[in-house]
Amino acid sequence: MTARRPGVGPVDRTSGARAHAPAEPAPAGRAAVAAVVAFGANLGDRYATLTAAAREIAALDGVHGIRMSTPVESVAITLSGPDPTKPGYVNAVAVVTTTLGADELLAALQGIENAHGRVREERWGDRTLDLDVIAYGGAVSDDPLLTLPHPRAHERDFVLGPWLELDPDAAVPGRGRADELLAALRAAQDARGAGEGAP
Ligand code: AMP
Repeated sequence: MTARRPGVGPVDRTSGARAHAPAEPAPAGRAAVAAVVAFGANLGDRYATLTAAAREIAALDGVHGIRMSTPVESVAITLSGPDPTKPGYVNAVAVVTTTLGADELLAALQGIENAHGRVREERWGDRTLDLDVIAYGGAVSDDPLLTLPHPRAHERDFVLGPWLELDPDAAVPGRGRADELLAALRAAQDARGAGEGAP
C-alpha cells in the first residue's frame, strides 16, 4: 500500500530517523510532552512541502525537538474509500517534544497548513498540506475539535509505519501497540487481496 521515497531531512545518525532540530531541554515550569504529528500532501511539490512544514514546526515557540520519519507514498482515501485516480499522497510522521498545550499545538499546525495554501472546502479532499495530531502524550479526548488519539490513527498504515520507524515501542493510547495494530491491518489487507483473487 505504501512505498518509501527519498528522505525529507538529514538523518539522525543515532536513531536512523530524519531529524530537523536537536532536542533541547524544555524551559523550567512546564513539562515537555512527546506529541506525534502526521503529515500528508497530495498536491504541489509534496516532498518540499513536508520538508518546509517540518522546519516550521521545529521553529515554533514551545517546540524543543522534532524527529521526522522517512516519507512514504499512499493512495488517496476519500469518503468512499481508497481512490487511485486521485493524486497520491506523501505521508510522514514526526515526534515533537513540546511545552505547547494540545490545543495550542493544533492551532499552530493549522496556521502552518493555512500558510501552505490549505483550503478547507471538501472533507477528505485533495490538499497541499494536512497536519494531524496523532497523539499528545497519553492523552485521550473525544472533543470533536481535537480528538486524541486521532480517531483513525490505528487504521492507517501510513501513520503507524512511519511512527514505528521513530519509536519501535509506539502505542496508540487506548488502542494498543502500533506494531500489533499495523500487523493486524496488513493481515486484513492480505486477506482482502486473497479474497479478490479467489474464484
Ligand atoms: P482535517 O480536514 O481532516 O484536517 O480535519 C480538521 C478538523 O478536525 C479540524 O476542525 C480539527 O479541529 C478537527 N480535529 C479533531 N481531532 C483532530 C486531530 N487529532 N488532529 C487534527 N485535527 C483534528
